[in-house]
Amino acid sequence: MKGFLHFATLALVALLLAIREKTAAGSSTPAAVNASRMASADQEPGNWMSYGRTYSEQHFSPLNLIDDQNVSRLKLAWYYDLDTHRGQEATPLVIDGVMYFTSAWSKVFALNAATGKLLWAYDPQVPGEWAINACCDVVNRGVAAWDGNIFFGTLDGRLIALDAATGKKIWQTLTIDGNSRYTITGAPRVAQGKVIIGNGGAEFGVRGYVSAYDAATGKLIWRFYTVPADPSKPFESPAMAKAAKTWSGKWWTLGGGGTVWNALAYDPDLDLLYIGTGNGTTWSEKYRSPEGGDNLFTCSIVALKLSTGEYVWHYQQNPDDEWDFDSDEDMILADLKIDGRTRKVLMQAPKNGFFYVLDRATGGLISAKPYTFVNWATDIDMKTGRPIEAAAARYAGADPQVVVPGPLGAHSWHPMSYSPLTGLAYIPVNDSGFAYKAEENFEARNLAGNFGVDVVAAGMPQDPKVKKSILDSIKGKLVAWDPIQQKQVWAIDRPGPWNGGVLSTAGNLVFEGTASGNFEAYRASTGEKLWSAPAQTGVMAGPVTYTVNGEQYVAVLAGWGGVFPLATGEVSFKSGRVRNISRMLVYKLNGKAALPVLPEIEAPVLRPPASTATTEDIKHGEATYQRFCSTCHGDVAVSGGVIPDLRYSSALSTDQLFSSIVLGGLLRKEGMVSFARELSADDVKSVRSYVIFRANQSKESATQASSKK
Ligand code: CA
Repeated sequence: MKGFLHFATLALVALLLAIREKTAAGSSTPAAVNASRMASADQEPGNWMSYGRTYSEQHFSPLNLIDDQNVSRLKLAWYYDLDTHRGQEATPLVIDGVMYFTSAWSKVFALNAATGKLLWAYDPQVPGEWAINACCDVVNRGVAAWDGNIFFGTLDGRLIALDAATGKKIWQTLTIDGNSRYTITGAPRVAQGKVIIGNGGAEFGVRGYVSAYDAATGKLIWRFYTVPADPSKPFESPAMAKAAKTWSGKWWTLGGGGTVWNALAYDPDLDLLYIGTGNGTTWSEKYRSPEGGDNLFTCSIVALKLSTGEYVWHYQQNPDDEWDFDSDEDMILADLKIDGRTRKVLMQAPKNGFFYVLDRATGGLISAKPYTFVNWATDIDMKTGRPIEAAAARYAGADPQVVVPGPLGAHSWHPMSYSPLTGLAYIPVNDSGFAYKAEENFEARNLAGNFGVDVVAAGMPQDPKVKKSILDSIKGKLVAWDPIQQKQVWAIDRPGPWNGGVLSTAGNLVFEGTASGNFEAYRASTGEKLWSAPAQTGVMAGPVTYTVNGEQYVAVLAGWGGVFPLATGEVSFKSGRVRNISRMLVYKLNGKAALPVLPEIEAPVLRPPASTATTEDIKHGEATYQRFCSTCHGDVAVSGGVIPDLRYSSALSTDQLFSSIVLGGLLRKEGMVSFARELSADDVKSVRSYVIFRANQSKESATQASSKK
């Protein structure tokens, strides 16, 4: 009887699959995703129809044709090279045999998911100049699909709908005030015919919000602001009136922040949309909210009614944040059995290093424990839900205070995964701190970050011993975390931070790309390493898996970039000095493709021009560089390999050439705007002097290192 039932179930599944394949093949509408299809997404495990595969955002696949027994036979099936060389962060969608994804500069691609053949591509022509408004590279994390259309946000704030069949534009709407420094890098979600999109820019003086647009027409349905504006004007919602009581000073003149730059999740049963919000502007409360206050709804998870955008509940992880501890990391929805009760939970491992389990119906805190080393707090008070902060964490003194984690976050946007089979969450963890000190005499800037912290004091010291101890403390790891017990089950150490997003599968596998240039598989239950393939470049994005004609594929977008190699300078070399190649990599069992053989790269030679700069010039140049240049060209003039390293640049050769770029805007189309609004000719001369000084310093330390050998 049991055997018969099993057979009957299999037959039914086969029949359903046959119907589905027929529908897919016979359908004239590609990407025909709708509410009923999303609700039964587990009945078509061969597709990956939303960012986290289903509305639960688990980045888990029920596919098991590739498993812990045969994964050693996983080989490259095909690859597709991209035409950009900036950060690649997108999680692709795969629907009925077609793969849809975004690349850097918000470009969209549709490929045959079995062969990699290009079906169409769409370039929204983001102006290069807009890159100055992006804190963290010109990245994009992906598309959404609904009713035959593909939706994505652009770096310059547009939301665009494309015909999934042809890539032709259906509608486009500007979601931001074009005079403000907003960017969109996150993937939209679609539910109940509404396209949900947020934006970033909290470091650049914007006010955070999330919007819902009609998927069919692009018409705005509602908008929820996350922080209050000028309280002398009417509030947009009762939630804003409540939030305004938690601020002080004239926060709105700096925008307020609290941006929804990544995390979105929707629960169709509760009809709640969850959003994660970021830091306030500035990081330091001294200029943001000088008399204190919790600063709602920064660094929070907020639940909204999807139909109206009305506030339902919030949980603030970092009241009055001062460390850029965004709560924008992906949120995972699951049903967990805790203390004998099945709870509908929301799980998040935000930047601050604690793993939170919330009751997603009420926002009540169920548990929170650190998933890696933190020194800013000792615990979370279960009565109040507030962190028990370490006394020194709020850097009130004159000396910089090293707080762990720093703005990179113990975990950032890289998707974590949750496997309902192992009951474990898999988190790509960064271990790094930051030397925080409030900036003296802060003034809002138009072409630089408004952090309110002293980025000169935070720069890497050049004393070899101090530098070594800092670099030794910076690490990365893949952590398997039991969310019920709130403890680590296994961990894989990485040389440095910024490793890839994670996929777990019913094949008892966990897939992750690494910052040092591999794509790897581990046994999900034990962490045993089972497979690795060279990616030839750093991998940050989240992998997916799907089937075409019954064959299972695993795909990951490769390519180095994002804030880590852009801003952290020498720290980023901890993860491995990789080439920067942007491409889609797709694997299957016994795949026959091979990556091209790469020619050796000759190490560049430092040839700084002569300089007669005084110590004072160099010091002024350092301060100017750190404030205006370091977030893209790297801390203390060391680039992480995505944007040109100025120490090696031929642009250094004369003051005139250097100035034609920095003030004249010669390279604005590549994203290097003119800084004439912020910097004088003397400022720019001093920056050049500082970079020449740093090039000579690097040359000397390289010579010393090689003579020691
Ligand atoms: Ca932030």
